[in-house]
Amino acid sequence: MHAYSDIVVVGAGPAGLCFSQAMDGSGLSVSLIERQPAAVLAAPPDDGREIALTHRSRSLLTSLGVWRHLRTDEIGVLRDARVLDDATRTQLWFRHQDGGRAELGWLVGNHALRRAAYLEASSGAQVRLHTGIEASGLRRVDGHVELDLGDGSRLRTRLLIAADSRFSALRRAAGIAADLHDYGKTMLVLRMRHEVPHEGVAWEWFARGQTLALLPLAEPHTSSVVVTLAPAAMQALLALDDAALEAELAARFRHRLGTMRVAGPRCTYPLVGVYARAFVADQFALLGDAAVGMHPVTAHGFNFGLLGAATLARELRAAHAAGQPFWAREPLCRYQRAHRLATWPLYRATQALATLFTDDRAPARLLRRMSLDLGARLTPFRRWVAAGLTDEAPSPAPWCQIAAALRPSRPTHSPG
Ligand SMILES: Cc1cc2nc3c(=O)[nH]c(=O)nc-3n(C[C@H](O)[C@H](O)[C@H](O)COP(=O)(O)OP(=O)(O)OC[C@H]3O[C@@H](n4cnc5c(N)ncnc54)[C@H](O)[C@@H]3O)c2cc1C
Repeated sequence: MHAYSDIVVVGAGPAGLCFSQAMDGSGLSVSLIERQPAAVLAAPPDDGREIALTHRSRSLLTSLGVWRHLRTDEIGVLRDARVLDDATRTQLWFRHQDGGRAELGWLVGNHALRRAAYLEASSGAQVRLHTGIEASGLRRVDGHVELDLGDGSRLRTRLLIAADSRFSALRRAAGIAADLHDYGKTMLVLRMRHEVPHEGVAWEWFARGQTLALLPLAEPHTSSVVVTLAPAAMQALLALDDAALEAELAARFRHRLGTMRVAGPRCTYPLVGVYARAFVADQFALLGDAAVGMHPVTAHGFNFGLLGAATLARELRAAHAAGQPFWAREPLCRYQRAHRLATWPLYRATQALATLFTDDRAPARLLRRMSLDLGARLTPFRRWVAAGLTDEAPSPAPWCQIAAALRPSRPTHSPG
């Protein structure tokens, strides 16, 4: 006899943890499998990422009981955002007033979010956590999915959910293809203290051969500095010692922030976007980055992961409450439809934006100037972007709905 759980989630990243928490009180048993040990999940190392959260995400985190575990000194307030383009000398402001709120959103360290989500999920009775153990394979047996674990044991379930990162091995094992877009760039994220206060303003600064960003943290003189470069240029930057790096970054920011001091670990990420061709298969669903792995420039990866967790949990709970099989095709397809509609347009728009704004050729520069000028003049556009961040439940723009409807989505597959 193999151990059984109604739902098995692989990956206790923020998406897997929040989904498991969202199933609390549903009457369904949930097992969460994670290769990292419990001690790491309880106190995750700082990975440099600062996650920009929308108003809706904060509401969801509050209702899941996760937000209350964050300390106030871990929450930065994002008041306004400023986009600058060096080549065209244009800039665009998104102000909190455009969204009718006191702030556009919040910034929280990924390690703090993970810690808070783990604390909440591990305190509930309904989620069984299996940590320090790897999921290695899956197959369908007698109307169940059977999952192989690294210690040689097996777990049976009605529904397997893969929240195992953008390079999801289970997605592949389930036979779901994904479109990967390698941007050919590396991103450095690094917390820094600076002389000039940030005043709650985030910067996105496109310049020749590099993209710079500044994300305001809770302390007024501390920000997360984000630098995107081609890999060789990044290697040269990383070879510098702290003093040389501080001088180099202050110069790259044209000394607008005064002196800058390293205040956190240097963390780098290869930039690869991923969009799965289907989010569900028979008794199988993808969640978080395993479904949609965003380029960080539009700061939506975890916001989408959280939205997906809430959507999937809602559909499964509704099916179970109505006495229908929660693992059936209908609830899974409803999740897939809703989540593709919510994510695909911004995924493609982000890809177009990241490509256009890192292209230094003349036609791209012209297009950039036109789009930034237009954006700066079109108050409804700025309001719509701001509302997307501040609204608790924004409806997709009409063009998003049309684009999503045109996006083909594959029929479901059988895992194994
Ligand atoms: C530099 C950077 C900045 C970002 N900024 C933002 C932002 O501002 N706003 C935003 O919304 N998002 C942002 N993101 C995206 C966000 O960090 C991700 O979307 C989010 O962390 C993904 O969470 P996840 O749970 O889906 O996956 P992950 O965090 O990748 O977690 C996957 C988990 O699965 C486990 N696992 C994998 N395979 C197995 C296996 N076989 N068996 C057992 N366990 C397994 C892993 O150990 C891991 O714990 C940013 C990302 C980066 C890189």
